[in-house]
Amino acid sequence: MADQCMPGWILATLFGLSAIYYLVIKKKEQRANKDLLEARSESVNSIATTSGECRSSNVSDVDVIIVGAGVAGAALAHTLGKDGRQVHVIERDLTEPDRIVGELLQPGGYLKLIELGLEDCVEKIDAQKVFGYALFKDGKHTRLSYSLEKFHSDVAGRSFHNGRFIQRMRDKAGSLPNVQLEQGTVISLLEDKGTIRGVQYKTKDGQELKAFAPLTIVCDGCFSNLRRSLCNPKVDVPSCFVGMVLENCQLPCANHGHVILGDPSPILMYPISSTEVRCLVDVPGQKVPSISSGEMAKYLKTVVAPQLPPEVYDAFLAAVDKGNFRTMPNRSMPAAPYPTPGALLMGDAFNMRHPLTGGGMTVALSDIVVLRNLLRPLRNLNDAPTLCKYLESFYTLRKVICISGVMLVCSLAGFVDVGIPFE
Ligand SMILES: Cc1cc2nc3c(=O)[nH]c(=O)nc-3n(C[C@H](O)[C@H](O)[C@H](O)COP(=O)(O)OP(=O)(O)OC[C@H]3O[C@@H](n4cnc5c(N)ncnc54)[C@H](O)[C@@H]3O)c2cc1C
Repeated sequence: MADQCMPGWILATLFGLSAIYYLVIKKKEQRANKDLLEARSESVNSIATTSGECRSSNVSDVDVIIVGAGVAGAALAHTLGKDGRQVHVIERDLTEPDRIVGELLQPGGYLKLIELGLEDCVEKIDAQKVFGYALFKDGKHTRLSYSLEKFHSDVAGRSFHNGRFIQRMRDKAGSLPNVQLEQGTVISLLEDKGTIRGVQYKTKDGQELKAFAPLTIVCDGCFSNLRRSLCNPKVDVPSCFVGMVLENCQLPCANHGHVILGDPSPILMYPISSTEVRCLVDVPGQKVPSISSGEMAKYLKTVVAPQLPPEVYDAFLAAVDKGNFRTMPNRSMPAAPYPTPGALLMGDAFNMRHPLTGGGMTVALSDIVVLRNLLRPLRNLNDAPTLCKYLESFYTLRKVICISGVMLVCSLAGFVDVGIPFE
């Protein structure tokens, strides 16, 4: 009898489990959809348009709107412009940025610059070649060189002033007749029946305008206000960097990034010009010692300075006394896009990793190569259903490239399979 009932019990159990599974999944999906709708309502404006009404307010026949002209936006504008697209870039501030981010481009990133025809943007800015890292621990150090033997002698990392590099890329993009760089702040994305049609933005002189294009690419950086409608941002802030410039000093290993494996956390140094060395001190947690009360200077002099190589000690103390500190939160955020017709995320707006990896710019440039190659066969971006399919495949394709790219960056950065012998 029990044997006869067995198939029924199994079926009933399977049915019950499927029902529970379905309910749980459905609930999760509903919650995710609700979150997405809430996020959308904050950074997206709905518009009532028909396809014929979609016209940019002061730029006509634009193929792509790019929000932000930092590393990702500027490189992307030049790349798509060179491919013959009509590009409208809206950047909050077109003057040269002065920041402590994005100053060391890994050799893998330099290779991407070559692929994009942008390698001359690290020329004429007093950029320094970087051939590897020097690691310091307990007064000993070791050198890890990039494996560059198979490449042209010019292939190496580059370190520079971030603003100078960006300005070179902006100038190069802006020199193309089909790329328009405009200073303005994008306030929201414009959506029509689930498709992003463009942006609403404030011009330099305070006018509010709308711009329309079949594709909007959001590259508004690590503090992105617009990404919430296009991805599920889970940002982690494990620590902050305190940045200073050391002058008149020679690093122990010329043309190398220096990582001091200090206590409680690492200190990073690399040249940013022929006369300046960037020093970034990692401070765990989300709060740094107060600069105004003198706590910061005290922390740097008593905790950090004693762990530094003697070659940079005096220059470090001089920089602390000068007091020109800059701080930045170190953020990481996995890529978790909501594929959305008409829009794409790129750069730090899309995903982030701890700056110690020095990989942010390389990932952004690698993504641009993927997107350029993907879109090349699609001459008419107004073909909405096809564009939609292409955009969806971007997120899958970049993952494959990213994994192999990270391996390339790691091996070029000397991080893979090293049995680090400290001397
Ligand atoms: C402390 C620190 C050090 C780092 N060091 C390195 C390193 O050595 N090497 C490396 O590869 N990576 C490094 N990174 C990461 C690197 O800086 C980023 O990956 C890179 O800058 C990302 O480029 P992006 O174009 O996405 O963002 P950004 O370069 O930040 O550009 C975003 C642009 O968008 C504009 N913008 C923002 N909002 C709007 C808006 N609403 N409307 C219009 N424009 C807008 C901004 O003005 C800005 O120009 C570091 C990061 C940090 C925090």
